[in-house]
Amino acid sequence: MVIKPKVRGFVCITAHPEGCAAHVREQIEHVRANGPVDKGPKRVLVIGASTGYGLASRITAAFGSGAATLGVFFERPSTNGKPASAGWYNTVAFEEAAAAEGLWAKSLNGDAFGDELKTRAVQILKDEVGPVDLVVYSLASPRRTDPKTGETYRSVLKPIGEPYTSKTLDTDRKRVEPITIEPAVQEEIDATVKVMGGEDWERWMLALDEAGLLADGCTAVAYDYIGPEVTWPVYTNGTIGAAKRHLRETAARIDALLKVNRGRAFVSVNKAVVTQASSAIPVVPLYISLLFKIMKEKGLHEDCIQQMDRLFRDKLFSGKGLDFDEAGRVRVDDWEMREDVQSAVAELWPKVMTETIDELTDFAGYQENFLKLFGFGLPGVDYEADVDPERPVPSLA
Ligand code: NAD
Repeated sequence: MVIKPKVRGFVCITAHPEGCAAHVREQIEHVRANGPVDKGPKRVLVIGASTGYGLASRITAAFGSGAATLGVFFERPSTNGKPASAGWYNTVAFEEAAAAEGLWAKSLNGDAFGDELKTRAVQILKDEVGPVDLVVYSLASPRRTDPKTGETYRSVLKPIGEPYTSKTLDTDRKRVEPITIEPAVQEEIDATVKVMGGEDWERWMLALDEAGLLADGCTAVAYDYIGPEVTWPVYTNGTIGAAKRHLRETAARIDALLKVNRGRAFVSVNKAVVTQASSAIPVVPLYISLLFKIMKEKGLHEDCIQQMDRLFRDKLFSGKGLDFDEAGRVRVDDWEMREDVQSAVAELWPKVMTETIDELTDFAGYQENFLKLFGFGLPGVDYEADVDPERPVPSLA
């Protein structure tokens, strides 16, 4: 079949296998071009490994320091001749590239919040890999079923306390529009913490610890975001921010668990990038379009792979001590949060409207990036060619 993008709001319901493979190759090439991460991890579990920051972490571990990687994710295979999800095709390409390099790589597709998947992951690591020296927790999900109670929680992206009025980008119609979001009720705040907070991360770490699968000196990292003041009401000070606070508190508990064997746990604050998760957050796509323009002009632009390569190479596994901020976080959002970058954003923010989108923002770059997530717009891919949408993930076949 010939596969074209079908965009519905902030998702694209099709994905291109060859395009996703080209996107994964591009990321692998980036890591290779920077040379080996000499002190990098060797046995790695990535939870949320198929797209965005988790995929970039998996690629950096495998192709930077030759790590064996177990990747966990929730993706859709091709059925009835329909394309699979992008994360599925990304994983096919990742595993094929890893095999060509002689690297051990296996994947588990299913609900990472459930106990069954944890049990399967533990068994695979026990049988085939041994204790891991890095656990990356990079899940982004709209819902979670608590395995202890069977109750399902849904996260919301809302302010806390009072309504928030700002402007947002309707990416389909290319229009800047006013938006008012009503504050969350307590139940919604609690549910968002249940989904995107640290409870499940801790359950993973305890399961690994109980099975003796955390190596001496093990690093555990989850990803956090801060961003500019214009987004604070809906992000940092909103429901998702409450969940991220819980994630940081959890990091401190996991750190205490790992300290016994000279390990460490923390969150890394990453920059704003276009991913399936971030495109769903109100206001954020407009901010990212502005940010891209400013950071590109200053030669500071980074996507997931540049961020994760820098995180691994210059921070986590540089062999030097880690720099933490006042809240105990590692920062790779340092370039995004630079004073000159943020003051340029603050100056342009009030001036952005539908008529000035192209002049003041890099909306074209945003859209290009968004389509790339689904394997569209990659150089060297023949998008008119007939392709087979059915591609088995080698380790799941
Ligand atoms: P993403 O949507 O690209 O990736 C989410 C991953 O989670 C995918 O691999 C998906 O398959 C997996 N997943 C979702 N539900 C699952 C489930 N029930 N079971 C198993 N796997 C499941 O998201 P992302 O933007 O890379 O976000 C990853 C982390 O990075 C999040 O914690 C996010 O808050 C953080 N972060 C993102 C940004 C950004 O701008 N995108 C910035 C800073 C931090």
